[in-house]
Amino acid sequence: MSRVYNFSAGPSMLPEKVLQIAAGEMSDYRDSGMSVMEMSHRSAVYEGIIQDAQAVLRSVMQIPDDYQVLFLQGGATTQFSAVPLNLLRHSGNADYVISGQFSQKAYEEAKRYGDIRILASGRDNNFLRIPQVEVADIRPDADYVHICLNNTIFGSKFAKIPDTGSIPLVADVSSCILSEPIDVSRFGLLYAGAQKNMGPAGLTVVIVREDLIGKAREITPIMLDYKVAADNHSMYNTPPCYAIYICKLVLEWIRDDIGGLDKMAEINKRKAGKLYNFIDSSRLFTAPVEVDSRSMMNVAFVTGDAELDRRFCLEAERRGLVNLKGHRSVGGMRASIYNAMPEAGVDALITFMKEFETSCSK
Ligand SMILES: *Cc1c(COP(=O)(O)O)cnc(C)c1O
Repeated sequence: MSRVYNFSAGPSMLPEKVLQIAAGEMSDYRDSGMSVMEMSHRSAVYEGIIQDAQAVLRSVMQIPDDYQVLFLQGGATTQFSAVPLNLLRHSGNADYVISGQFSQKAYEEAKRYGDIRILASGRDNNFLRIPQVEVADIRPDADYVHICLNNTIFGSKFAKIPDTGSIPLVADVSSCILSEPIDVSRFGLLYAGAQKNMGPAGLTVVIVREDLIGKAREITPIMLDYKVAADNHSMYNTPPCYAIYICKLVLEWIRDDIGGLDKMAEINKRKAGKLYNFIDSSRLFTAPVEVDSRSMMNVAFVTGDAELDRRFCLEAERRGLVNLKGHRSVGGMRASIYNAMPEAGVDALITFMKEFETSCSK
């Protein structure tokens, strides 16, 4: 069987090495006589796995000691509710930046719990540019500011972390976590669904500063209360055991095979750079997102002709370049080139795009 280059926005490719290790350990994990899927989450063997996962994440991301790392369930979408329930702890106000569909959804959900205002929006620019955030526009009594750091659907990203002064900054980093080093201390809370850049679906990672924990609303469901999760080391109930195990393997791959996040960023910059460079020099394809707002993980591009876009995706698929269709709400194409997409996959895509362009101009 030959593997395809899978440009899906998520769930997405995993490093082949990780899949091989998991396959080797599938039915007998390190002489335990059982699969990780069959283990009690309270067993010593599993304790080792979840502790390692946390330790490697802490070291790879250089997470400061005053932050808790939580392994949760429910996807990033559940955090759209958990964040306001836990963090609207004083004024009940929060300011949201709308830079795409997921931040819009986060905003809509938060409105159910407090006085939520739009701080800045990219809607007027059809989300092709990241909106400017001015610290002076933030309500001084806001409990937090929420952003989505990388917009998976439109393929845009904050080039710089916005300055929110003393107001805690909360960021959805589902589609850019582990793609490059990030200064965790600039944030009050980071959250990510694992299925883009960390592992399989089912695991959600929350990294939260300790002083923000413990003030959840009375009505907060127990499974959404960060304090309960923190006090119980992410094992108040059964955690997503197998997803955490694969995440641990992915983190070890970043640490040992790639050489850490600086190296990861170097590779990702090179991959995205060559793809954007080709698109910008192409007569057929264009990348609609403005240059300084472009994502390194999700590269959106179009031909300008929906029928041609459709043909492109179809022919790409025959070449083993799959899931290039843009999000149903945006159209065109989107190449998600997360950490696990080999550089050879990007090269193969560019080669095919060149051929397609030539065949169209005949
Ligand atoms: C995929 C994604 C989500 C939704 O994640 P789920 O885990 O499916 O809830 C939210 N935000 C961003 C930025 C995403 O990329």
